[in-house]
Amino acid sequence: MTTGSSSPDGRAARESTDWGTRSLLRAVNEQVTRIGASANGQIEFDYVCECADSTCFTSVRLPRSEYARITATAGWFVVADGHGMPEEHVVEDGPGYLVVTRESD
Ligand SMILES: [Zn+2]
Repeated sequence: MTTGSSSPDGRAARESTDWGTRSLLRAVNEQVTRIGASANGQIEFDYVCECADSTCFTSVRLPRSEYARITATAGWFVVADGHGMPEEHVVEDGPGYLVVTRESD
């Protein structure tokens, strides 16, 4: 097993799953976290579902600390309950949301 951070960016990604959209969603969600960080008192935020459907804008509510913990792991995505794809593996099952990752590499 090798550790280290090999980037998948160098490969031509032509798969059914739109990972570019996911990167965009992740950027949006990180912005949510940043805005939230400056707002006092609120610990739960509405993040955008990070499922493979690029037209999905379902909001997923979870604590900011949870979102930060989950997204600290590369390849983990927060999706609304039931939004996981068959090729994805559910790593955590939270209240109203799932944490999924790809099964391959
Ligand atoms: Zn979704």
